[in-house]
Amino acid sequence: MSEPVLDLQKPVGDEVKQTTCYMCACRCGINVHLKGGQVRYIEGNPSHPVNRGVLCAKGSAGIMQHYSPARLNKPLLRVGERGANQFREIEWDEALALAATWLGETRARDPDRLAFFTGRDQSQALTGWWAQQYGTINYAAHGGFCSVNMAAGGLYTLGGSFWEFGEPDWEHAKYLMLWGVAEDHDSNPIKLGLGKLKGRGAKIVAVNPVRSGYGAIADEWIGIRPGTDGLFAFALIHELLKADRIDLDYLVRYTNAHWLVFRSPGSADDGMFVRDGEGRALCWNRDSVGPGLAESINISPAVVGEYVLVDGRKAVPVFHLIAERYLDEHYSPDAVAERCGIPADTIRRIARELADVAFDQAISLPIAWTDTHGREHTEMRGRPVAMHAMRGISAHSNGFHTCRALHLLQLLLGAVDTPGSFRYQPPFPRPIPPANRPGKTRGADGKLDAPPLGFIHGPEDLLVDAQGQPRRLDHAYSWRYPLAVHGMLHTVIRNAWAGDPKPVDVLFLFMANMSWNSAMNTTETMRWLTDKREDGEYRIPKIIYSDAYSSEMVAYADLVLPDTTYLERFDAISLLDRPISDADCAADAIRHPVLDQAMQREGRDVRGFQSVLLDLGARIGLPALVQADGSPKFRDYADYIVRHERAPGVGLLAGWRGEDGSLSGKGAPNPDQLKRYIEHGGFWHAQIPASARYYKMANRDYLQWSAGMGFIAKAEPVVLQLYSETLQKFRLAALGHGPVQPPDSERERVATYFDPLPIWYEPFEGAQLSIDQFPLSAVSQRPPFMYHAWGSQNAWLRQISARNYLYLHPETARKNNIADFDWVHVDSHHGRITVQAKTAGNVQPDTVWTWNAIGKRRGAWKLAKDAPESSKGFLLNHLISDVTPRGDYANADPVTGQAAWFDLRVRIQRAEDMDATAPQFAALAGDDLANAPLRYGASLRESK
Ligand code: SF4
Repeated sequence: MSEPVLDLQKPVGDEVKQTTCYMCACRCGINVHLKGGQVRYIEGNPSHPVNRGVLCAKGSAGIMQHYSPARLNKPLLRVGERGANQFREIEWDEALALAATWLGETRARDPDRLAFFTGRDQSQALTGWWAQQYGTINYAAHGGFCSVNMAAGGLYTLGGSFWEFGEPDWEHAKYLMLWGVAEDHDSNPIKLGLGKLKGRGAKIVAVNPVRSGYGAIADEWIGIRPGTDGLFAFALIHELLKADRIDLDYLVRYTNAHWLVFRSPGSADDGMFVRDGEGRALCWNRDSVGPGLAESINISPAVVGEYVLVDGRKAVPVFHLIAERYLDEHYSPDAVAERCGIPADTIRRIARELADVAFDQAISLPIAWTDTHGREHTEMRGRPVAMHAMRGISAHSNGFHTCRALHLLQLLLGAVDTPGSFRYQPPFPRPIPPANRPGKTRGADGKLDAPPLGFIHGPEDLLVDAQGQPRRLDHAYSWRYPLAVHGMLHTVIRNAWAGDPKPVDVLFLFMANMSWNSAMNTTETMRWLTDKREDGEYRIPKIIYSDAYSSEMVAYADLVLPDTTYLERFDAISLLDRPISDADCAADAIRHPVLDQAMQREGRDVRGFQSVLLDLGARIGLPALVQADGSPKFRDYADYIVRHERAPGVGLLAGWRGEDGSLSGKGAPNPDQLKRYIEHGGFWHAQIPASARYYKMANRDYLQWSAGMGFIAKAEPVVLQLYSETLQKFRLAALGHGPVQPPDSERERVATYFDPLPIWYEPFEGAQLSIDQFPLSAVSQRPPFMYHAWGSQNAWLRQISARNYLYLHPETARKNNIADFDWVHVDSHHGRITVQAKTAGNVQPDTVWTWNAIGKRRGAWKLAKDAPESSKGFLLNHLISDVTPRGDYANADPVTGQAAWFDLRVRIQRAEDMDATAPQFAALAGDDLANAPLRYGASLRESK
């Protein structure tokens, strides 16, 4: 009898379309199999540079994201009280006319009275540009509550960053340290890379209070106490310095290690670099026994010692300051072990392992290259120690300096963009800090002089008023949070309610679930959104919200603009925003509508948010959005993607530019550009020349290639900043120097946290509370199978987990007399939740944890009213305050304003059994559609 044959090649549909996944931020290529215009199957695109055919559970479940009952179907206008979730459906004409009236009136009155904030969208190249045209400074996306510490820490140090903008050298790394990474924005590439490392026998060390996600396959798990990663990094640095296991040659060639710093306490230039008359940094040349240009080659710069300059002032090289600080016994393994929860011997061993791999197992690739001084090298030498870090180290009030500490550690090992180490992805590296500053002033046409988000170079760039108080609604770029380069979405609702620094007329949000899982202080946030003045008007007068799904935030909108699903839209995953490059190629991608007639067939009347935004801009006559006769300049977002030029020849997409599509990077708009992308699987990529793949910060071929592509203005080397003069400028201002100084109330804070070398301090919540009262840290982890709230409403993904538990170490459970499935009260200084607990050995004993974003409000997301997500699921957000325990500042990093989600301190106590988690909020009104079973494919069978 012959064996039955399973035909794996049998088509499951009648056509396949290629686009980009949006089930998380990773942007994998997908093949969408369709039958009769409906999705039958989603697989990874094997040719795609991001995932090479790999697809995760989330990506496969994209079918149910499209067919989710929670989709919004029609514009909605509030008819009940705000928060009651009562709307009437309206036509788009009415919705757009109303939104345009509100936005137009607000712009005429004062553009800053529009607060325009977006969540996890991938179109910030458009939304930031639109806000600039509108003229509001009050714009940002979600980076301030995500991982801006990683971005800012990296960009002010390396000119690039972890996140999805850099990657370990998967082909050559022998040792990888993952810091605070569970799942990531760079999900499938990391999984592919980890597979390569495991296959080669490289060692993977996961540093995280919880062993989840990628940590599960690590060779060693270091269960660190939350918020102490910087201290651990300093102890490693201490050991490396003590053992003289430092790559001084690398430091002098590529960093500012040898640059001289004035040592003149009390003077206006104390801590600034010593420069010549043309502003070029100087070093101490041991050959000529005097100052020399730091950028010179063939000199012998000093890296330690104190030197007297011609005018009698003293100066020391940056490395001298580093050695002075981190050789201090405060940073010895013995000194930090208890606070970090890591045995001192383990710290010493990890330092030895790092040094052994970096220096005794150094590698060399036979690739000739030329540096920016014109020196030719026959090989590329590398230190095969790689690092990657993410939100676990970032979401603390000390996260910026922790990120800088990790970069310092990498640089001392000579392990940035060398074979085997961390590698930049184009368009990085960029100058430090990047040139673009935030927009501040409006021209006669009402347009801001630059997009609202940019990089601060010194106190003069801050957005503060004459008294030094914040100008922005979120207080970003103020003395309180000077380098808040992604804005601070987490402060917006409170400040809009309080009218601080001034009232807003319209709050316009896109894809930001600000009343629930994106909120700190959830209860108050709901109150702020609904609170009224004495005259009966809402304190936040108008709220426009756009989303594809009926999240908890919809109930708080006055006007709801329904977005499409990701399979129905055009999108540009742009090099101007967050592209899909890897370390060997620049790449970008699109989404395009792969479903024909889906809206008509499904009775939905929705529009892509980006097209709606362009439409609204034209309706209110924003200069760049209308022709001379006042008609719209762009038909829709697809048209904008193709025709808009940010600078001559530079548009949202870099592929197939020029009128005939023959150019890459820069070139005139090509009317067939989107067609070419679609023909090419939805993406474009350009290989970096072989001689340009490492040492990108000083590689002539790379920098010329990068400039040719339009990524950087000039092919000049990027000197990596161990010591940050930008930070020192703020410290000097706080100490009374310079024309722009902080108000007295902020001087001490700025002077403390603007240290030009990385520092560690106790996260604010722990520092301001008694450890006896709140002995535990509490953190959430992103599940591998869900991406925030989107995934936890997806019918297929819900089958993996529809609720969460509070996980605690068995020893912690025993001490607190708690058994599996017991109910526990979890108290913070801010609030209480009551939830079910489970023991787990994968957590550091002084930490409790749970999955994030699974808990849902009853009635939201069209889930059944008794859905486990709302009866047994919960959020840690209810415990997290939006301000510090003292109430003096946002619960955030003092440098960047990054939300300090993981500073949370709690105590636990066994509780009586409950029927449902607490707190519970009133169920949102609406259809209880999901009481009916949701069966994918039942209707498709009929169409066979
Ligand atoms: S990793 Fe993210 S983008 Fe890639 S397939 Fe999974 S959900 Fe989609």
